[in-house]
Amino acid sequence: MAQDPILPGHSSAYETALAQFDSVAEQLGLEDGLRRLLRLAERELVVHFPVLMDDGALHSFTGYRIQHNNARGPTKGGIRFHTGVNLDEIRALAMWMTWKCAVLNLPYGGAKGGVTVDPRLLSLKELERLTRRFATELCSFIGPQTDIPAPDVGTNDRTMAWIMDTYSRNKGYAVPAVVTGKPVGIGGTIGRREATGEGVAIITREAMKRAGRSLEGATVVIQGFGNVGIYAANFLTQAGAQTIAVSDSSGGVFNSKGLDLDLILHFKQEGGRLCDMVGAGDRITNSELLELPCDVLVPAALEGAINAENAASVQAGMIVEGANGPTTAEGDAALASRGIPVVPDILANAGGVVVSYFEWVQDLQGLFWDRESIQRGLEFRMTTAYDQVRQLAQNQKTSLRLAAHRLAVQRVANAMRPSGGHA
Ligand code: NAD
Repeated sequence: MAQDPILPGHSSAYETALAQFDSVAEQLGLEDGLRRLLRLAERELVVHFPVLMDDGALHSFTGYRIQHNNARGPTKGGIRFHTGVNLDEIRALAMWMTWKCAVLNLPYGGAKGGVTVDPRLLSLKELERLTRRFATELCSFIGPQTDIPAPDVGTNDRTMAWIMDTYSRNKGYAVPAVVTGKPVGIGGTIGRREATGEGVAIITREAMKRAGRSLEGATVVIQGFGNVGIYAANFLTQAGAQTIAVSDSSGGVFNSKGLDLDLILHFKQEGGRLCDMVGAGDRITNSELLELPCDVLVPAALEGAINAENAASVQAGMIVEGANGPTTAEGDAALASRGIPVVPDILANAGGVVVSYFEWVQDLQGLFWDRESIQRGLEFRMTTAYDQVRQLAQNQKTSLRLAAHRLAVQRVANAMRPSGGHA
């Protein structure tokens, strides 16, 4: 396999995203004007806003919404509530959303947003006030035809319901298509909550098939037992794999015979931290978890989990990126030199945006689909994208990551040329 020219020495998420783009732009011989445009986001909103806390104090929070590129359609991307949220992180995540939507051939550009906050430290009322105040700041920036948020780390269907309601009150009528990942009762879709994890399982199955293996009996390790990790574990287990370790930010549990996922889910739903879990298996740290021997490692937490420090110790047969940007450029190079294949985030975790697209289409049409149609559509779009990326990687003798980025940048660049890509 040819050495990927993704540059070493870049570790923050934004530096990784820029390094990935620069190397692909160079390979494609992209014209300078387009390169400069695509390195930058089209629009960046930074807001500082007040929230009244339960004790009567007024706190100030900072929020972001960044629209990277809208050449292929309205921008799309999640909203993150986490203490690590900052401008550069959101820039990286917005750029990756542009590439993800393009790889899946969805009629969207990329965006991302977030608030620097630990939502676990707020009461439900405080969280609602924060979300509604942030949504008020976003009202003139988002919309069904311009920019459509969705859940991400620290947000969920309830957060989306608050944003939709705030936006709708502002307009004077219900606008379900302004967000996706909302509850089914207000225009959400069947299957959105599970979609990212289900997509991870579909892609893992395809990648294993390609390696001459099946999911039956394959051992799986998952970092991050949140929305993505939980459903990835469930779908992979249903398909015959054995999930032997999972973790949250506090630590993880390991059982070589396979974990009882229902038991762990129940413990998490009761507010437990996995570092305190007894009865499921041995307790392990997150660094130990990443170094467990297994067939498939799914990093499904945050950026930079696999990096220059630990990539040499990874013992997985393959990595399927559930999170966005879980592997730094240095980590990627180290894995490639050891022959460990990586299915990149912009392909592997795209199930969420695919079903978000289905949700948006249903909202715009006012016509709702059944579970079978959603699952068939997800399966078709994920396997089609996987086949296109794999084929390109094979033809170009490059990694799946480079092929996915190449396909995406090419599609976006075509859409940006005045002729729309036609000579
Ligand atoms: P979530 O908030 O539901 O869950 C995140 C999980 O990661 C939690 O269990 C948390 O405890 C854990 N975590 C946080 N820091 C950790 C650390 N340092 N080590 C181990 N675990 C840690 O978030 P989510 O929606 O599941 O998102 C996870 C990742 O998947 C993010 O990178 C997100 O951008 C990406 N993603 C999410 C979606 C989606 O539909 N939710 C879609 C595509 C990609």
